[in-house]
Amino acid sequence: MSLQSSPLRTVERLVQGTATSDGAGVRLTRVLTQNLQRRLDPFLMLDAFRNENPDDYIGGFPDHPHRGFETVSYMIAGRMRHHDSAGNAGLLGPGGVQWMTAGSGLIHSELPEQEEGLMEGFQLWLNLPARDKMIAPNYRDIPSESIPEFTTAEGVRVRVIAGESRGIAGAVQRPHTEPLYLDLHLPAGSHFVQAIPPGHNAFAYTYRGAVDIAGSEVVDRQMAILANDGGEAVHIAAAEASRVLLIAGRPLGEPIAQYGPFVMNTGEQIQQTLRDYQAGLFEAAVVQAR
Ligand code: MN
Repeated sequence: MSLQSSPLRTVERLVQGTATSDGAGVRLTRVLTQNLQRRLDPFLMLDAFRNENPDDYIGGFPDHPHRGFETVSYMIAGRMRHHDSAGNAGLLGPGGVQWMTAGSGLIHSELPEQEEGLMEGFQLWLNLPARDKMIAPNYRDIPSESIPEFTTAEGVRVRVIAGESRGIAGAVQRPHTEPLYLDLHLPAGSHFVQAIPPGHNAFAYTYRGAVDIAGSEVVDRQMAILANDGGEAVHIAAAEASRVLLIAGRPLGEPIAQYGPFVMNTGEQIQQTLRDYQAGLFEAAVVQAR
């Protein structure tokens, strides 16, 4: 069966996101908020930032801890410098991805490497299965030129950050949650069809232009939660030049206990995490790593 004749997913709901600030005063839009974690399992958060004014980003995200999940940062414009307590450092530039597995815990900072101009990008939080929450932290910088991509006959540029599209394997694969993370650049009048397993939770986020998904218009800075209605693919059409993130994954179906930057399965694990953090164990890991 061709993708074109597959049953297509409809849009269950459009989400506008919530304007907020995080870190040291970075203005951003929280697109995937805590109340959507169960619905969009295994994804815990999506933040979008697009700031022209340095006052809105210059403070960055100074030292802070994480435990129990993965952070995926994708930069569209600007540069961010990363340092963490496991001894990793890197510079995230336009089109690049930083895939960080917090696992058992680390402390890191994400600071702008620029004092003017546009700073634009996304941070996605991907949960880890219960059995992997305490694995050793890991970190990968994936520069733009190392992200697999292809262009369709209609001129749609497809950047495959994670998962697989049209037989092209993405830069990252994950066994339990099987995340799909595509950045689609659609010229005016083009369309794109992507297979998504019916049991996976999926959403699209428009960050330029406007697209049509099964009759629903998804405009700039809007997220469309795709219905789990048996559809085997999603059809995205762009009347004008548009850019869209398409994200999907296999739900874990496990309890989610979040306290700020820590995401575990139970309240007791959160209490233990706070004790470990207060005891300096997150920094101790640093000292050992050095
Ligand atoms: Mn962080």
